[in-house]
Amino acid sequence: MNINEYVKLALRTESIRPFDGTDHGRRASRLVHGALGIVTEIGELMAAKTTGDEASTPAGLAIALRNYKEELGDICWYLAVLADEFGFTLKESPEFDPEGTGFGVFIDSLSDHAKRTWFYNLPANVTSIEAAANGVFSCVCHLCSKVTGSDSIEEILETNIRKLQVRYPEKFSDWHAANRDLEAETKALTA
Ligand SMILES: [Mg+2]
Repeated sequence: MNINEYVKLALRTESIRPFDGTDHGRRASRLVHGALGIVTEIGELMAAKTTGDEASTPAGLAIALRNYKEELGDICWYLAVLADEFGFTLKESPEFDPEGTGFGVFIDSLSDHAKRTWFYNLPANVTSIEAAANGVFSCVCHLCSKVTGSDSIEEILETNIRKLQVRYPEKFSDWHAANRDLEAETKALTA
């Protein structure tokens, strides 16, 4: 599955909230959704520890890695919303420094753009948003190869779509978001 196929499939489960009907309103709404979602998923990624006591046994490590990969996929889902809204293709940035600040500088930028677009009613800076989103994507790709070893980003994307197919058989709904079949989702993550 390439990244463009992934974006298309990911959007099937996007939650569209009411906005004021203008292009700016839609942009601001989806930018806030993407930026906030990426922040929350990075928090979940940090909680999915692949080192320490719980990951010290083969079974514990397998669960930890599964959770870690799930969160990498979740981050990609929110990147897909941004790529679609701002019309760019997600790709690894040639300037990405794996020894740098990690997600920090990129989520700072995305959050700032979301704030300015939504609350100050300023036009979105597409070039800067694309750069920040590709910075986040570069971090995801880097962590994917560093932490999981053999897994490719394509596998992470495919697993994410499998999970969402279980969670939302048709499309996003508030009911399905609140009533999840975690056992079936776990199966999809390990298929
Ligand atoms: Mg998550």
